[in-house]
Amino acid sequence: NRRFVLAERPQGEPTEGTLRLETDAVPDVGDGQMLLRTVFLSLDPYMRGRMSDAPSYAAPVEIGQTMVGGTVSRVVRSTLPGFNEGDWVVGFSGWQDYAVSDGKGVTPLGADPVHPSWALGVMGMPGLTAWAGLTQIGKPKAGETLVVGGATGPVGATVGQIGKILGLRVVGIAGGVEKCSHAVDVLGFDACVDYKSDGFAGQLALATPEGIDIYFENVGGKVFDAVAPRLNTRARIPLCGLISQYNATSLPDGPDRLGWLMGMFLKKRISVRGFIVFDDFGHLYPEFAKEMGGWVEAGRIKYREEMIDGLEEAPRAFIGLLRGEGFGKRVIRVGPD
Ligand code: NDP
Repeated sequence: NRRFVLAERPQGEPTEGTLRLETDAVPDVGDGQMLLRTVFLSLDPYMRGRMSDAPSYAAPVEIGQTMVGGTVSRVVRSTLPGFNEGDWVVGFSGWQDYAVSDGKGVTPLGADPVHPSWALGVMGMPGLTAWAGLTQIGKPKAGETLVVGGATGPVGATVGQIGKILGLRVVGIAGGVEKCSHAVDVLGFDACVDYKSDGFAGQLALATPEGIDIYFENVGGKVFDAVAPRLNTRARIPLCGLISQYNATSLPDGPDRLGWLMGMFLKKRISVRGFIVFDDFGHLYPEFAKEMGGWVEAGRIKYREEMIDGLEEAPRAFIGLLRGEGFGKRVIRVGPD
């Protein structure tokens, strides 16, 4: 059993020394347990937070402990009712080939799912994040303007496409011409602005002639700086993530703008609500799965996946994810299906 354990807590960006590959025996299964073989491992931005012991909503991974992660696996052996050899499941086996499970937190996907890895993306955690954050906190009304950063990532791409289905004007923000073209040509956004280009703030203003009613926040930093002056009175901000800050080791230089920010929220009567998807909206999963399943099947929501072969590639692929090198949902193919 190969597994990546946390070797040291990264200062700033994780390095190749942050995780260490260890190999030990494939674990035995006791009564009321099953052995799972990982086929797909999800790479997600929240993993950076788990590498750190700063206070957060979830406990950190301890040094020497297997790195946590969402997985799609197949049942190798089982003494658990309802889980049979060969079945597909989605759960949290972490960065390893095999895991023993008592079934808690594991959801069956059946014997022959059409797209098993999609349970880590559009039909799973990122999809639920997009759907719940937009509908429950964004409270969209047809005709309003929605802006979303990380526009081609699994959350942002889904937010924008749901926005289109709900009749919004959707403007994406993404890094680079290729990602922006994808957002408009494939995902159907009305516009997409490249935050790495000169004149980004001006281009965002041109793309939002009637201001911004909903800003789905994935990114923070200079993207938020450009969004802030465009926010309309009574705008809503589902505060989902701040990926531009995850590797930061200190606050940025410059004047303290907290007073300005709070004053802006007050004068414009803006609602900002942070959320942690399973804690706040896990109970909505069945409703989400039904609605999203229908949209995906009807081709109304497109999904782009970036499959990378080999567990040994996971640390490099994760470092690249935080640098914006990914394009679509990053998944590691760990084992044969
Ligand atoms: P993504 O695949 O979108 O994240 C990677 C992308 O983030 C990159 O491709 C890059 O896109 C963008 N990015 C990276 N660094 C920067 C930067 N410095 N400035 C601007 N953009 C940057 O991830 P997900 O779709 O999985 O997640 C999106 C956000 O949602 C994350 O912040 C994540 O933490 C959050 N999240 C929150 C949840 C919750 O419960 N609150 C649950 C799930 C996700 P580009 O090249 O376009 O810049």
